[in-house]
Amino acid sequence: MTIVIGTPGTSGAVRLVLLGSGELGREVVLEAKRLGCEVVAIDRYPGAPAMQVADRSAVVDMTDPVALRVVLEAERERPCAELLVVPEIEAIATPVLEELEAEGLRVVPTARAARLTMDREGIRRLAAEELGLPTSPYRFCDSLEELEAAVAALGTPCVVKPVMSSSGKGQSVVKAPEDATASWEYAQTGGRTGAGRVIAEGFVAFDYEITLLTVRHAGGTSFCAPIGHVQVDGDYRESWQPQPMSDGARARAEEIAAAVTGALGGTGIFGVELFVRGDEVLFSEVSPRPHDTGMVTMATQALSEFALHARAILGLPVPAGEIPLLAPGASAVVLADGPGDAPQVTGVAEALAVADDVQVRLFGKPDARPGRRMGVALAAGGDVDGARERARRAAAAVAVRTG
Ligand code: AMP
Repeated sequence: MTIVIGTPGTSGAVRLVLLGSGELGREVVLEAKRLGCEVVAIDRYPGAPAMQVADRSAVVDMTDPVALRVVLEAERERPCAELLVVPEIEAIATPVLEELEAEGLRVVPTARAARLTMDREGIRRLAAEELGLPTSPYRFCDSLEELEAAVAALGTPCVVKPVMSSSGKGQSVVKAPEDATASWEYAQTGGRTGAGRVIAEGFVAFDYEITLLTVRHAGGTSFCAPIGHVQVDGDYRESWQPQPMSDGARARAEEIAAAVTGALGGTGIFGVELFVRGDEVLFSEVSPRPHDTGMVTMATQALSEFALHARAILGLPVPAGEIPLLAPGASAVVLADGPGDAPQVTGVAEALAVADDVQVRLFGKPDARPGRRMGVALAAGGDVDGARERARRAAAAVAVRTG
């Protein structure tokens, strides 16, 4: 495909409509803008990070099928040369994407990928049951009684998650059978769509977990060096690259990532989450878009995960095979600890003074709540342990004032 990139705002423009305008979307917008595209950023609240750097923005509840269709049809009617819908979050009325894709609209990577991955059940059944990939043992449950039976079958500990959830929301560990009630109730409050189905998964005592960023592009499939990460309450706190792996585990990880991303299809970057125990690799989940733990690539790779995503979806060249790493590096998140509007960030100078290779990225979110990710500190150079230590120190120097 030879793409012609016309002037933004004219009928020759290549227009990206971003569904979700958080910090990951913002970096996608910046990369698309560097390549001369026109970008429309959509989210359910005004002033979202990606809106601050896009050509235009719209505030829409993307879980509302009517509202989503209205905004996408309006974009379809505005003249442009190419229109791409780029989902950046999971909470989207994906049947609308499938309908519009059937009518010829391009959805990145595919509308089916967006539908299967917004729901833990869709992607788990695809990976484990259709593709035969190794995963933790699991059961889906629609009631406390079914969860109790699942806990008895899987044994303890096991992990309970709402099927419509991400980032640890509503997730808990059942350590003993009597914890099932509390886990069921917690899951009912944590799902995106309120009460509903949960997945119970056998607890995997992994040695480490990775995100394997996998790029499907016009020239084939390429992999970034594996990213190790630490999660607290199901949400990422620190990541680093490269995560050392045995040759066997690395090969198996790439095989699993190629299989699952191949089944989802389309072009773009995917964050494939895997658990590793010795040479054994288990599939956990996949994002058909940039991954939060992959923010480290802004410091470690000449082409970050966002640049790779932009190139891949536009049909532009992406390095074949393994994406080169400039230096080992790490990221550490900056979280808000209180609620409040118009937060103020302090300590950036102190964070940057930690070392010359430290960078701080602030997301400019218009309001804070406890645990909300407001920024990230990055470090690259030397070895992973040193980079982790510098990134952690820099993140700790940054404070988000909300009062
Ligand atoms: P998820 O939202 O499914 O990515 O889960 C968030 C984090 O919880 C993972 O990155 C793991 O650290 C942990 N986790 C999730 N499922 C399991 C499991 N079956 N066994 C052990 N840890 C898990």
